[in-house]
Amino acid sequence: MANDRLKLDRTRQIANSLTPFGETIFTEMSRLAMRHNAVNLGQGFPNFDGPEFVKQAAIQAINAGHGQYARMFGLPELNKAIAERFAADSGLPVDSEAQVTVTSGCTEAIASALLGLVNPGDEVILFEPYYDSYRACVAMAGAVPRFVTLRPPDFSINPTELRRAFSSKTRAILINTPQNPTGKVFRQDELEAIAQLCREHDVIALSDEVYERLVFEGRHISIASLAGMPERTVTLSSLGKTFSLTGWKIGWAIAAPDLTAGIRAAHQFLTFATATPLQHGAIAALRAPNSYYEQLVGDYRRKRDALVVGLSALGFQVFPPQGTYFVMADHTPFGFESDVAFCRHLIERVGVAAIPTSVFYHNPSDGRSLVRFAFCKTDETLREGLRRMSALQSAK
Ligand code: GLN
Repeated sequence: MANDRLKLDRTRQIANSLTPFGETIFTEMSRLAMRHNAVNLGQGFPNFDGPEFVKQAAIQAINAGHGQYARMFGLPELNKAIAERFAADSGLPVDSEAQVTVTSGCTEAIASALLGLVNPGDEVILFEPYYDSYRACVAMAGAVPRFVTLRPPDFSINPTELRRAFSSKTRAILINTPQNPTGKVFRQDELEAIAQLCREHDVIALSDEVYERLVFEGRHISIASLAGMPERTVTLSSLGKTFSLTGWKIGWAIAAPDLTAGIRAAHQFLTFATATPLQHGAIAALRAPNSYYEQLVGDYRRKRDALVVGLSALGFQVFPPQGTYFVMADHTPFGFESDVAFCRHLIERVGVAAIPTSVFYHNPSDGRSLVRFAFCKTDETLREGLRRMSALQSAK
């Protein structure tokens, strides 16, 4: 009895803005994966280690006594390394002191951008399926989400729906390219259409580019590089995916100085600064030779192909991703009523965890036929996951 009461009281204490969101699907699925001893193709984290040269740089920084707060917006050397890399990739000049803010992962950069640049009641456009933290951060900022739905098979933007999402109240549009969970890489013409509307309506583009290096088809384009966009774009990225170090939580935001002022205004009160020795590690990472990135994308391409071929052979309708380390698949050939029912069966009976995608839609039934598999896993893990899922085929 006492326990029940405690539970009720706790529920009531969560702020109204956050009650609709509950626990993240990634936490829930990883917990279930552990409980059922399942192969975890759910939460997107590599089950292999990051590069030795990056780890050694952080270890050296710890040994050298770099244990106090870093500068609020980043170690000067790291800001410089981020600016140089972005300038080389996008062709845009970046002032590392006035335009770069180092954050505790890209998730914090997104929160800082939304809290620091958006007012309560403003509208923010999200593409769905969306990464779950976007919608929660929009709610924490007191803003109103507007949705543009990307649909299989290719998850292209419908220009009419896009235009309809803009209004006189729109303050920002949040883009993610390559996109989690669909694996879509936004094309030049799609980004041009977004940019055109941003200019027309004087809207800020928040562009989450954490999978920028994981591109298998097409080309990664930063919307900041399009005409009229450098002054109205916040480019967000991180170390986690590119260097297989998701637990380091090093991210950043690159934006014009007036937008950076808003981002820093929030960042200084959210986390103030980011782990100093890990920033030293990040400096080494960002100076990696091109061969590092080539190897990374080559390895991931192989994993993607293996999972796409394997899932297709099992009977899924697979939508091969152009980027990211996720694959979307339609589970309906197996006869389950929803993505949640399918994932429950998969984890409890088959021993594999995947992510049901309905949580990434404002109208959850839009995602009921789709599940997401992560391939940022060792070849052995991927093989074992596919081997276990052959039980599904025989159940058909
Ligand atoms: N970005 C990762 C994913 O999409 C997980 C992030 C998280 O666990 N919050 O799976």
